[in-house]
Amino acid sequence: MKVVTRFAPSPTGFLHIGSARTALFNWLYSRHHGGTYLLRIEDTDRQRSTKEAIDAILDGLSWLGLNWDGEVVYQFARAQRHAEVAHQLLAAGKAYYCYATPAELEAMREEARKEGKSIRYNGMWRDRDPKDAPPGVKPVIRIKAAQTGSTTVRDHVQGEVTVANDQLDDMVLLRGDGTPTYMHAVVVDDHDMGITHVIRGDDHLNNTFRQLQVYEGMGWQAPDFAHIPLIHGADGAKLSKRHGALGVEAYRDMGYLPAALRNYLLRLGWAHGDDEIIPTEKAIEWFDIDDVGRGASRFDFAKLTNLNAHYLRETPDSELLPLVRPLVEKALETPLSATALERIARGMNGVKQRTRTIVELAAGLVFYARAGAPPMDDKAKAQLTPEARGLLARVATTLDQASVDWVESTLEAAVKDVAETASVKLGQIAQPLRAALTGSTVSPGIFEVLAILGRDESLTRLRAAA
Ligand code: GLU
Repeated sequence: MKVVTRFAPSPTGFLHIGSARTALFNWLYSRHHGGTYLLRIEDTDRQRSTKEAIDAILDGLSWLGLNWDGEVVYQFARAQRHAEVAHQLLAAGKAYYCYATPAELEAMREEARKEGKSIRYNGMWRDRDPKDAPPGVKPVIRIKAAQTGSTTVRDHVQGEVTVANDQLDDMVLLRGDGTPTYMHAVVVDDHDMGITHVIRGDDHLNNTFRQLQVYEGMGWQAPDFAHIPLIHGADGAKLSKRHGALGVEAYRDMGYLPAALRNYLLRLGWAHGDDEIIPTEKAIEWFDIDDVGRGASRFDFAKLTNLNAHYLRETPDSELLPLVRPLVEKALETPLSATALERIARGMNGVKQRTRTIVELAAGLVFYARAGAPPMDDKAKAQLTPEARGLLARVATTLDQASVDWVESTLEAAVKDVAETASVKLGQIAQPLRAALTGSTVSPGIFEVLAILGRDESLTRLRAAA
């Protein structure tokens, strides 16, 4: 059997991190089996669905590298088909018209509330003849759900879950205005799209028992189900904004790489031994939905950031350049010159070894892109004592000699020479030197910085500090 999975977001907000993980698991499962991964936008709820949210979802998935096969399916466009199936069920005696008035439904709700029971439709039109219909009420179509026995789902994550059928009510398939309910549309779409595995959040597990009634009524083979646990915050509470329940674009803006986020989301609820670093090719090879744990996993920013540092170091500098460039330009409020770009390209490797996100990387590269002395942070300022300034002046004079070849090894020898002559330790020069050149007390090796900044730029900065 060819595996067909789908990701079916409701476009009522951004692609948040929990949904991104659902998409990832569907994508991995289909890729692992050489199957197909489809995207369905569940825009049936016209009031809450927005174009903006659809764009954010499509962009978020593309950014994450979770590209879908074929065309996007829009649920709302299939409303005719949903109605057709509801009428087929009606004709087969598996569904019926219900003329309950709003007042009658309210009375049922009231009674359930009083008895402390869950709110359920009482089946009042299940066996009644539509000829008895009150005038002026547009009927809904309800499924004739099983009332005896039980329904069991063999879920790939939750295991075997059984619900007594007397717990199910006759849910509405088609509203009085002829529009389908979401619960009905999902089943028709999954069937028509040939979905073999429904992998979704465990908040949908209860829906499954009711949705199975439609499969049953139509004589359709139901797909396999895998209901994956929700993501919780690091403190174990339900994920909120503070915990990281943000849209994936927020993670992009915080400087995370898609590969790192994929790896992180994969490890939330799924493991392969003790492996922490699992590149996507390995994930495709190893992933199985049956291995996803049943417990809620906890979102941990520190772990994500550590993983990101790893992927940052693994990413070729040429791929990082277009990501940091706009951030450096924003920091300097100017487009970068060819010289600035060249220095950034050369300095990239040194800075990326010390940073964990694209945002940190860009911040660490800004000093290379400037022309002239950088603004200094307080720690850097503290380095520039009168004595240090004197030493910097001597360094400038030495390096200004034409005989100093502007490469790391020669620069290092020259600066060491100054330290020796002045009878100070190298560190007493290196730190002020770093402050003068970078405006900070943390940077790549100081001789590397000198070499990349070049003679003129380095001397300008040294003299300004001296
Ligand atoms: N549209 C639903 C949601 O965004 C998913 C439904 C499903 O996967 O069956 O939660």
